[in-house]
Amino acid sequence: MSPKKKSAYTVPKLKAFSTTALDKAVLDLIDALGDEAQAAKMSLDAKGFRDRWMARKNGILTEVNEVWLKTAPASAKREVGKRVNEIRAKVEERVEEVVKTVEALAIYGQYAANTGKGSGGAVLDDVLLHKLDTERIDVTLPGTRRLLGAEHPVIKTMNEMVRVFRNLGYSVEEGPEIETDYYNFEALNFPPNHPARDTQDTLFIANQESKPLPERLLLRTHTSPVQIRTMKKMKPPLRVVCPGKVHRNDAPDATHSPIFHQIEGLAVDTDITFCDLKGTLDHAMKEMFGSSVKTRFYPSFFPFTEPSADVQISCIFCGGRGYRDGGPCRNCKASGWIELLGCGMVDPNVYGFVDYDAKKVSGFAFGMGVERIAILKYGVDDIQLFFNGDVRFLQQFA
Ligand SMILES: [Zn+2]
Repeated sequence: MSPKKKSAYTVPKLKAFSTTALDKAVLDLIDALGDEAQAAKMSLDAKGFRDRWMARKNGILTEVNEVWLKTAPASAKREVGKRVNEIRAKVEERVEEVVKTVEALAIYGQYAANTGKGSGGAVLDDVLLHKLDTERIDVTLPGTRRLLGAEHPVIKTMNEMVRVFRNLGYSVEEGPEIETDYYNFEALNFPPNHPARDTQDTLFIANQESKPLPERLLLRTHTSPVQIRTMKKMKPPLRVVCPGKVHRNDAPDATHSPIFHQIEGLAVDTDITFCDLKGTLDHAMKEMFGSSVKTRFYPSFFPFTEPSADVQISCIFCGGRGYRDGGPCRNCKASGWIELLGCGMVDPNVYGFVDYDAKKVSGFAFGMGVERIAILKYGVDDIQLFFNGDVRFLQQFA
């Protein structure tokens, strides 16, 4: 890369104006331009370089104009003009480059002088020049865009639901996903061998046959054990919601997943009635699905509540009419209602497990599947989509 030893470039008079002759003349000039640019960087003489090539008086560009363009025969003027323009662009580009490099070297020299690091700015080697040439930063280029993460639709739905109950004064409680049989079943009024246990296909931890049944570990099948844990550590009045992950031995399909999420709620105080339960859930459903949504309660069974009810909301797709777009509504099977959650008044037997006086306190509990609500809210037709981790699906919720 060192400059070639040869005499300083002068603009030659053109003897011929053929394409070959013009190309050769231009190449010689560009060669000289490159050599002198390099030399200018080494000597830190940007001004001298600019003057030599671009000064209005006697600059090489001016001479090219005078010597080549003005002497060209009419037939060659166009070709010569084109090349002169190319040369001008190249010269301007080189001059700018030399100016920037020399500026950078001046900064580098200052830095080296101040810090004692580097070569002090006086000795410029090819390596440094090459670095300056190739490592230039174009500040006009767009930056590296960092992709923003987004809440998973299930977590987003869960947070929205928690917010509704927080606004009603509920606090949030969480519990372990690996539970004992006692908390998951027995304390919730599921006695051993009770048929209600069969409705929740349970994943047990292996090799625990030697332990007594209440101590055996399992993956919790619902978030209800958190209610027991909370009642054991807090005295009434209490209002809590318990969001979390639960597991069941279900084969995955469009509507089943071995893992899903629930939110349970519990309110215990001295005079809580079924009216409070109805009012609370009606309000929560309206907050989540819009103020026009209606709720209805009809009898059901859960071991830990008495009486128990399933709650339906008026179909959010057909407005509760049961038909839409000229046909029966698919989402509510033309009934106008969608079943959403279970609830009831806490069974007095449960209070016995947590040392509450069943004669003095009363309360209600409710529980709902988060995926079920997310499916309704976002019109998702396969629960597996929530767990496949496909970014194309998840991006839609960002
Ligand atoms: Zn419907």
